[in-house]
Amino acid sequence: MPLTRRQFIHRSTLAAAGFTCSCCFSRLSADGISAAAAPGAARNAYFGRFTELPVGAIKAQGWIQQWLLRQADGLSGHPENLGYPYNTCMMAGAIPDPTIKQPADWWRYEQSGYYFDATARLNLLLDNPGIKQRHQAALDYILQHSNPLGYGANVTPWPNAVIGRGLLADYSATRDPAIAKLIRDYIVDHGRTHDRDGVNAEEAYYLYGVTGDPQLLAYAQRVYDDYTSPPSFCSIDKITGPQPLKSHGVTAAESLKILALTYLYTGNPQALDLTKRAYAKVIADNLMPDGGVVSSESLGPVAFNSLHETCDITDWCWSLGYALMATGDAAFADLIEKATFNALPGAVSKDFKQLQYFSSANQVLASSTACPRIALTRMSYRAAHETPCCSGNVNRAMPNYVARQWLRTDDGVTAALYGPCVLHTTVNDQPLSISEETDYPFRDTITFKVQTAQPATFALGLRIPGWCASATVAVNGIPANLACPPGAFAALKREFHDGDTVVLHLPMTVQLTDWLGGRGVSVQRGPLVYSLKIGEKRVESTTDPDAIKRILKGNNIAGFPALEFFPATEWRYGLDSGAKAAPEKFAVIESPLTDNPFLSDTAPVRIEVPLRNLPQWQATWQPVLDPPPANLKLSPQNPASLPGETELQQFGDLKTMTLVPYGSTYLRLTTLPVITERKSAPFAAKT
Ligand SMILES: [Zn+2]
Repeated sequence: MPLTRRQFIHRSTLAAAGFTCSCCFSRLSADGISAAAAPGAARNAYFGRFTELPVGAIKAQGWIQQWLLRQADGLSGHPENLGYPYNTCMMAGAIPDPTIKQPADWWRYEQSGYYFDATARLNLLLDNPGIKQRHQAALDYILQHSNPLGYGANVTPWPNAVIGRGLLADYSATRDPAIAKLIRDYIVDHGRTHDRDGVNAEEAYYLYGVTGDPQLLAYAQRVYDDYTSPPSFCSIDKITGPQPLKSHGVTAAESLKILALTYLYTGNPQALDLTKRAYAKVIADNLMPDGGVVSSESLGPVAFNSLHETCDITDWCWSLGYALMATGDAAFADLIEKATFNALPGAVSKDFKQLQYFSSANQVLASSTACPRIALTRMSYRAAHETPCCSGNVNRAMPNYVARQWLRTDDGVTAALYGPCVLHTTVNDQPLSISEETDYPFRDTITFKVQTAQPATFALGLRIPGWCASATVAVNGIPANLACPPGAFAALKREFHDGDTVVLHLPMTVQLTDWLGGRGVSVQRGPLVYSLKIGEKRVESTTDPDAIKRILKGNNIAGFPALEFFPATEWRYGLDSGAKAAPEKFAVIESPLTDNPFLSDTAPVRIEVPLRNLPQWQATWQPVLDPPPANLKLSPQNPASLPGETELQQFGDLKTMTLVPYGSTYLRLTTLPVITERKSAPFAAKT
């Protein structure tokens, strides 16, 4: 069964209180996965279950490689379409002042920093001359022109943490001492500890792990002390108190990881305890059906029309990765997969040329005026938005995922996040490769092929997702005698020979998750969430209206046009409680996988579900906007809530409807209203 939010809190609370049980965090040690060493040489300065590998050690294959290639052809390779500051030199020089004043001077370097980090990673994953040239020009400028207050021409503190991540990505691959000196000198001389400026501790801890430099450790620990003391949003009393954490969503993701990093590099038990409690709180209070976190712009309670900022999809996944490495809890990896396979593709156009600033699990309308936030572009799919952070940050999401698909332990390597890739690494100083051949998450079988010149003894760790109750492992075609409990890591320790093949089978069943007090459910099969695709009236614009032009002076909308989507089919459907009780009767239909599995017309997996029309739901809201209103500003906002009692009184006959992967939709209904027993007719699902 999938890990519900309540179960997650229960587990984390137990663990935080010092309890363990056979089904919780103690599994890791029971499985024999040992602790990991720091990314560099200072083994005694690392306390995590897992360690990151150098960026580039894991190369994407299959559909993930195709995704990255689309990135390179789309937003990542054509920043001139993204508006200011992406249409400037960015980190390859001093960014000229904006022609339209931005609210904060650090914006331009934050956003350029996101792009710099993304291209650093993409450059290590793809052989793309354009990405390489852009990244190398920026890296060269930063190394040759940095000033005491920051990297390159930047002199504002927080963006250094963002730019520094890109520098660390290069450093992890090259060990260039000039990069290490640059980061070290800035942090030791000028690193600040307050607010997001303290996120530079991420780089400080990594370098400390490599060099053992006590001044880097001292800075990072000052940040931890500052973050866990009032008035910080994640002070000890707020994390351990009863109230939800309140903060800007990106700030929360960036800040909470410092708790996990502090445990990773110091072993401070308080930091581990706070890590478990803080992330459990966010998951309990803010997790959305697609794996994203409510963030519009602040963390908030989950509602039918909750939104997440695309920056938050990227940054929560990155932040959860540190929680995974610190705690060894497989549930964090489950969440990273869920957000990456659902929330992320749902927020971008399928050719990666446009993105939303805000997206929703229940998105009946994706237009500039579709969300209650006062903003001109936020729910439309565009390359340039009036607040530009997400246009840079979205490029980091999939490269970040690839970087953590494999993690190192003291006695081997662990497949933490699944998908087609090749790992090149060393075990006991012996080079080896493991190719991971799979169409996961669209298929349930993963084949690992070991390539090694000499026999090698190591532990091959395998994550067993919380949703998979019947995982099996076979080695060279023979079933392995290996316990595979859901929500844990299994370890296959043996002498591996060249050509050895390990097949992991993760059977996927249709599972439902309650939302909004059980008044709605979402449908999941494996890590994929399935939505009712709403027919789209697509409106493409190659010129902006004057109001947007004034804000986005200089964006090349003709290159990557803006897209708005209006509902062209009825979307008001609900699920009988009888059907809810028998999801195993829903028909699962598989089709061949294409290079882009996030195209709804060729979706590799579809689920047929019996639904009923609810004609009274949002009766004042036109169910179909085809054609869209002439004045788009008059178009309604997305529906705010599930149907009320009165709206559930009238419903149509059962109709078999097809759900597709969330990420293949632009308009979708993901939280299906539940039509209670006393109102529903007998269930007659297709079998
Ligand atoms: Zn953003």
